[in-house]
Amino acid sequence: MARNVLVTGGGRGIGAGIVDKLAAEGWNVAFCGRKPVEEFSTRCAEIEAKYNVKALYIQADVSNAHDRERLLNAVLEKFGSIEALVNNAGVAPQVRCDLLEMSEESFDRVMNINLKGPFFLTQRIGRYFAENHVAGTIVNIGSISATVASISRGEYCLSKAGVAMATKLFAVKMAEFGVPVYEIRPGVISSDMTSVVKEKYDKLIAEGLTLQPRWGVPADIGRAVAMLLRGDLAYSTGQVIKVDGGMEIGRL
Ligand code: NDP
Repeated sequence: MARNVLVTGGGRGIGAGIVDKLAAEGWNVAFCGRKPVEEFSTRCAEIEAKYNVKALYIQADVSNAHDRERLLNAVLEKFGSIEALVNNAGVAPQVRCDLLEMSEESFDRVMNINLKGPFFLTQRIGRYFAENHVAGTIVNIGSISATVASISRGEYCLSKAGVAMATKLFAVKMAEFGVPVYEIRPGVISSDMTSVVKEKYDKLIAEGLTLQPRWGVPADIGRAVAMLLRGDLAYSTGQVIKVDGGMEIGRL
């Protein structure tokens, strides 16, 4: 089977870690973001030279239906087929705001990018898999925020709880087409998203927040995605793989 993957939001942070690892494993990598194409010509050339694979960056906003269709078409045009989708693109609220003050505008923005975008992209690529008899793989990047309540970013938690259910729904639907669907649930990972709360998490990690006493890095998530795309969890679908340093184990 050809190995062409689309990673949303692969230009930086966790997505870039995923792109690097998958390219290293021989996948042709397409990735998207909101930034202009010119900003990624060097990066794509470097990936192609280093790993001897094809690399394609597409400017596309996952929350926009027109962009999602254009995104799929661009990948098909360059690669000819697509065998895996990694829904990674996501945002935190622009302002951390108490639950009693959160605005509808922020709710809509976060839900549109973090939940509606990946849901409908998965629906579209799911149809493509079904129509073309591609036994592909779908991976959603969720968050511990699906189950851990943070009242200063409730809209983010809601969006990730939705991603958790979307993973189960598509696992059920896509099983008949031989397409497994997984959620990777990161803990605290070093990226632009968490740079604004670095001091807070430095302190929490030093105080024992995670059993493994360090920040996660994008490569940790890249390795987990690569494992799933290799088919190493072949007899498994709809499952959550936690990559959080053991953070969610309740302790007394
Ligand atoms: P970053 O803020 O570092 O990067 C976000 C990425 O998503 C960028 O590539 C960005 O592209 C892209 N993106 C944002 N909005 C859109 C959009 N509307 N359309 C297309 N691309 C978009 O975040 P992280 O790397 O930390 O997060 C990646 C994923 O991991 C997210 O889903 C996040 O919720 C999740 N996660 C992160 C954790 C962490 O601790 N960092 C923990 C748990 C989950 P551009 O550069 O163009 O803006």
